[in-house]
Amino acid sequence: MDLSFTPEQEAYRQKVREWLVDNIPEGWGTPQFQWPNDEQERGAILREWDRKLHEGGFAGISWPKEYGGQGLTHVEEIIYDEEAGKLNAPGGINVLGKLLLGPTLLQFGSEEQKQRFLPPLLSGEEIWCQGFSEPNAGSDLAALQTRAELDGDEWVITGQKVWTSYAHHADWCFVLARTDQEAPKHRGISFILVPMHAEGVSVRPLVQLNKNKDFNEVFFDNVRVPKENVVGGVNNGWKVAMGTLGFERGTLALGRQVRFQNEFNELVKLAGDTRATDGTLVKDNPYFRQKLVEIFNDIRIMRYHGLKTISQLLNEGKLGPEASLQKLFWTTMHVNLGEAGMEVLGEQAPYWGTDSVGRGKIQDTYFGSRGATIYAGSTQIQKNIISEMILGMPR
Ligand SMILES: Cc1cc2nc3c(=O)[nH]c(=O)nc-3n(C[C@H](O)[C@H](O)[C@H](O)COP(=O)(O)OP(=O)(O)OC[C@H]3O[C@@H](n4cnc5c(N)ncnc54)[C@H](O)[C@@H]3O)c2cc1C
Repeated sequence: MDLSFTPEQEAYRQKVREWLVDNIPEGWGTPQFQWPNDEQERGAILREWDRKLHEGGFAGISWPKEYGGQGLTHVEEIIYDEEAGKLNAPGGINVLGKLLLGPTLLQFGSEEQKQRFLPPLLSGEEIWCQGFSEPNAGSDLAALQTRAELDGDEWVITGQKVWTSYAHHADWCFVLARTDQEAPKHRGISFILVPMHAEGVSVRPLVQLNKNKDFNEVFFDNVRVPKENVVGGVNNGWKVAMGTLGFERGTLALGRQVRFQNEFNELVKLAGDTRATDGTLVKDNPYFRQKLVEIFNDIRIMRYHGLKTISQLLNEGKLGPEASLQKLFWTTMHVNLGEAGMEVLGEQAPYWGTDSVGRGKIQDTYFGSRGATIYAGSTQIQKNIISEMILGMPR
């Protein structure tokens, strides 16, 4: 594996950096930036960013040109992610469309589906959400009960999804539904593209303790969808969904390492400004020094894991169960980073306002890092996959 970038790739990096400096919304990421309270206004800012990215030629960097992409490789994709991470650029709102549905359609979709759905996804015209989890089907996803029955040329979908991130902004949802009631539970599932504005779809936000509304419950009440909206074949949805989850587990890590490095740098700065109860600076305390060095090393290791993933994507075009190793590694590291931050804050940790020490960012990391140990398959599920599929241990 060659870890160096070519002169062309370095030139691309320069182009990305210049574009980002010129286009990141003014004041973004600074204490002065006023992030609106209204959920729709926040959505509008992120939609505008997606539109700008597309206009600037930075949407679908590694996707084929015929579907609106840039026809480059995953290397340019990670270069963009690294530069965007360094400048703390916005993430956009079509995260699930770009990270999950796009790669899934490129691997499993029909030609018509790729042509119909990929260009508006990249231009920010159509926002996507992921309808996998249900009240009684999370880790045991194959227990899902949402059903789709064929009526003439249409599927009629009925059921409930939960924890559906971005559903309140989404135009479309990729839904797992049971299309054969008699088949063994992994075999009777299909992956169906469902318009969120169709009659019978309703979205109910789930309000979190911090008052954010990031997820929703989504109800489907006899929602009619064209027959051809199934991806990868009827009753083949489990295989397609496992491909989607592979992308979610593996590629999510690529752009994050630089953002984690930023969080780490802020933590080191804080440790240099904070005094322990004995009056010494936290950064001089051997206990904290040891912790910080371990986290620093893990962020570096994460980068090499990321580069290895790119190598695998370039060579084989897909990710295997190793994606679980990646996910387990970076989520554990991020939890450690959040916990170390709370320890550095000490008695100041419970106060979480924007005028608090560190402007509440450490508390955001602490709580947010927990979520990543659950979505895309919980930590325990990743351990099961690693032990069974990589180590060959008995079930
Ligand atoms: C921030 C966030 C965003 C999300 N966004 C989405 C989304 O957009 N779309 C979507 O479809 N879903 C989404 N989810 C839901 C997520 O996929 C589920 O929460 C996850 O699959 C776990 O399912 P569950 O919550 O039902 O927990 P359960 O499956 O009930 O698990 C409860 C506990 O039991 C453990 N456990 C369960 N089974 C086993 C086992 N076999 N072996 C060992 N331990 C086990 C789990 O690890 C966990 O600790 C999101 C979740 C979070 C936290």
